[in-house]
Amino acid sequence: MSSLLLRNGHIIDPANGCDEIADLRIEDGRIAAIGQGLSNDGAVQELDVGGLVVCPGLIDMHVHLREPGQEWKEDIESASRAAVAGGVTRMCCMPNTQPTLDHAGVVTQVIMRARQVGLCEVHPIGAVSRCLAGRELTEMRELARAGAVAFSDDGMPVWHAGVMRKALEYASSFGFLVIQHAEDKQLTDGGCINEGWMSTQLGVEGMPAEGEDAMIARDIMLTRRTGGRYHVAHISTRGAVALVREAQREGLQVTAEAAPHHFALTEEEVMAYNADAKMSPPLRTEADRQAVVEGLRDGTISVIATDHAPHHIDDKRCGLSCAAFGIVGLETMLPVSLQLVRDGVLSMSELIAKMSLNPARLLGLDGGTLSIGAPADVCIFDATERWVLDREALFSKSKNTPWHGREMSGRVCYTLKQGRLVYQRGKILD
Ligand SMILES: [Zn+2]
Repeated sequence: MSSLLLRNGHIIDPANGCDEIADLRIEDGRIAAIGQGLSNDGAVQELDVGGLVVCPGLIDMHVHLREPGQEWKEDIESASRAAVAGGVTRMCCMPNTQPTLDHAGVVTQVIMRARQVGLCEVHPIGAVSRCLAGRELTEMRELARAGAVAFSDDGMPVWHAGVMRKALEYASSFGFLVIQHAEDKQLTDGGCINEGWMSTQLGVEGMPAEGEDAMIARDIMLTRRTGGRYHVAHISTRGAVALVREAQREGLQVTAEAAPHHFALTEEEVMAYNADAKMSPPLRTEADRQAVVEGLRDGTISVIATDHAPHHIDDKRCGLSCAAFGIVGLETMLPVSLQLVRDGVLSMSELIAKMSLNPARLLGLDGGTLSIGAPADVCIFDATERWVLDREALFSKSKNTPWHGREMSGRVCYTLKQGRLVYQRGKILD
């Protein structure tokens, strides 16, 4: 295994309260030492990272890999390349593949395929219900034994209250999280963007905020009843943030993640019928966006996750109403999120925690830290470098991003997976 000495980086490791200019030595794929002026006997390769931030490899707990079943949109290899280009060294994949991740065999297959690719570790999220149909629970323990780290029907909500109650009960009996795509389809069916001024202007069906809020309110009651662990995926409304905050004050095990697009953009993006700004939940109003930002600031929202949802151009260029929901996000998470630091919402250490340490803790993953002895999964980035996003340069197979042609600030320079350099400024090293 390789050894490597990173010189003069700005090391930020929230788990250990580390925020200093120092050297970092990696041996046998693990963090071996952090300190000023570490010695090098001449045997170790050195990398000058002066002026760059050195932090734990990012962990994205909400990714749609599309493999198995829709490999023309994305596969485990292309997603892994996109991940490390975005500084992500672990990602959790959602179960809405074809077949769905509702059997141990499929879960094992995904993990093995990701290991074969060898760039980014994949931790599957097992399905709550068979075929995500929301009626019959999966064999959760078997999925967990095969390597699933949490449960969700994401892509679909767990719409059936009785199934959600049982899922919270069973999953919590072995300490697992249930992740909800909160959407009451009876309120949102047929909708394609946020319901309000914009949907009226464009003359398209809207999805009201209440579709999200109502389901979260129901689920919080079920969490109270069951003592389960409940996590809101891609939170997007003012009401939802308030509900989660209140549940946490009460001491319930309720957590939430926000996707960069929900704190960076608003429904204004769809003004020109832009299908690359169509996602579920939809971009909301400025008041909702500000509520999500406030939730990130005060800690109500502990995780930033992408909801990376690749779609072929044919699924997007068919009019706003019938275009598929979702955008790619692995390669833009870090630069878009850095705006929170520039705006004084979060410190750099708080931001990094939401993209590494916090998801690791929530899911019980062995990562998200630069502690001595930890796997040397490292993201090294320039926090201020300006560049223009070209969707054709994305490593993802799909190019559905609303940030095409926009200036980004902050760029991943190197990504290390277990001490091995796997990404370096625009190049995958495999
Ligand atoms: Zn979802």
